[in-house]
Amino acid sequence: MDPQSGGATSPVIVARADHPISRSHISGNALKVLYRLKDAGYQGFLVGGCVRDLLIGIEPKDFDVATDASPEEMRRLFRNCRLIGRRFRLAHVRFGPQIIEVATFRAAGAPMAPEPDLDGITAEDAESDADESGGARLDEHGDIDGNVAAPEEDESFDRAHDERGRLLRDNVYGTIDQDVWRRDFTCNALYYSIQDFSIWDYVGGVEDVRARTIRLIGDPETRYREDPVRMLRAVRFEAKLGFEIHESARAPFATLAELLTHIPPARLLDEFQKLFLAGFGRRAFDLLREHGLFEPLFPATAAYLAEEPDGMALALIHAGLADTDRRVAEGRAVTPMFLFAVLLFGPVSAAAQRRFDAGVPPPVAIGEAVDEVIGQQNRRIGIPKRFSFPMRELLTLQPRFHRREGRRVLGFLGHPRFRAAYDFLLLRAHAGAENPAIARWWTEFLALSPEQQRERVGTDGGPGGDEPGPRRRRRRRRGGRRHAPPPAET
Ligand code: ATP
Ligand code: MG
Repeated sequence: MDPQSGGATSPVIVARADHPISRSHISGNALKVLYRLKDAGYQGFLVGGCVRDLLIGIEPKDFDVATDASPEEMRRLFRNCRLIGRRFRLAHVRFGPQIIEVATFRAAGAPMAPEPDLDGITAEDAESDADESGGARLDEHGDIDGNVAAPEEDESFDRAHDERGRLLRDNVYGTIDQDVWRRDFTCNALYYSIQDFSIWDYVGGVEDVRARTIRLIGDPETRYREDPVRMLRAVRFEAKLGFEIHESARAPFATLAELLTHIPPARLLDEFQKLFLAGFGRRAFDLLREHGLFEPLFPATAAYLAEEPDGMALALIHAGLADTDRRVAEGRAVTPMFLFAVLLFGPVSAAAQRRFDAGVPPPVAIGEAVDEVIGQQNRRIGIPKRFSFPMRELLTLQPRFHRREGRRVLGFLGHPRFRAAYDFLLLRAHAGAENPAIARWWTEFLALSPEQQRERVGTDGGPGGDEPGPRRRRRRRRGGRRHAPPPAET
């Protein structure tokens, strides 16, 4: 078979009696879309991750539909439908908070993630473009629609690939037997038909799902070159589903990992969030390192981890990711900024240490160190300011936990970033990067009543509070931070 040519073999059709997917497990809204398509004489299939997840008995994150109806036909069929994307259009059918994404079959040469060159676009841009205002956007799948003037207009590129083999074009509608070959893994290329509830399998996906194997469709190296993010996707599915990456899909990592350094930072931010904020971050981290795919994402951290004598930064990362996974499992809020602090802590403390050694006062040294490390990191994963600012704050606040007397301690409690900084202190203590007695002191202190807290810290620390006015005056008078020792971890 030659998936690149869109060469259609015919599918193996797995009848309803021979697979476990029941309509009772499918979102009612997705069923509505499928039935409406069918009644209007179109083909309608569930496709992608939802079919895979239903086959292994887990609840799909979202339900995606593929059809032979064109986007314009979709709009005529559904009043609650919006078309998004410019060059390649997708239909979003909205039911209250739920969106069912409906894609018209795409022909060969039209990749899922055409990867236009967004190098000039910041993560914030990508984020704000995620609304439907056109321009480059990350779709529901984190795929990037080919809506940006990409370098294929340049005559030095061939029609559909750039010089590294990345696919650039994505503008041709097709049939299901063309659509299938552009998908990444066999387990992601199964189609569930609403016609007779059968599964259409062109690529041996049902067998691979049963065997819990992640295998690329077509030649692995070619498929990774077309879209290097597929390497990260393989690891994501390995971490999330507990599948094993087939040897043939693993082998190219060593030589192709480097291609990830050419992916637009905004797209890597999106992929980062899917890897680390979805409840399996700790496993994803270990697997990325095992496969040599962590280094292109976090080069400074990878270098630090390779050298560190005491395993402190690694312990901190493991603890931070495990904590985040637990929060996700409990349905609590999680933020990338905390994970960036955790993941970049090693290189930040090294950069801060150089400044401590040169006599730079701790908060200044840490602030500068954060800026230096973020500056480098942004070339790989773009960290929007709404994450990097609070992260900087969280790290520069760490030395303040060493001060345990005086009214300014009470002022610190009211700092908007206190809670995150305290959580981070606990992690550092847990990982051996801070004196555990300090973390214990704060934990006990927080359990006290306001009166007891006032008694505990005394009032000898000066005119207290965190109001900027008095504090700044006092600082100038004292000529600095006599009581703020450098962080213990550095
Ligand atoms: P999840 O459960 O995390 O949503 P998923 O398999 O649904 O996993 P999505 O990112 O939602 O993954 O993408 C939906 C489908 O689109 C995939 O199953 C796959 O068929 C196709 N796809 C997405 N991204 C790519 C890509 N980069 N290359 C090829 N196919 C892709
Ligand atoms: Mg999905």
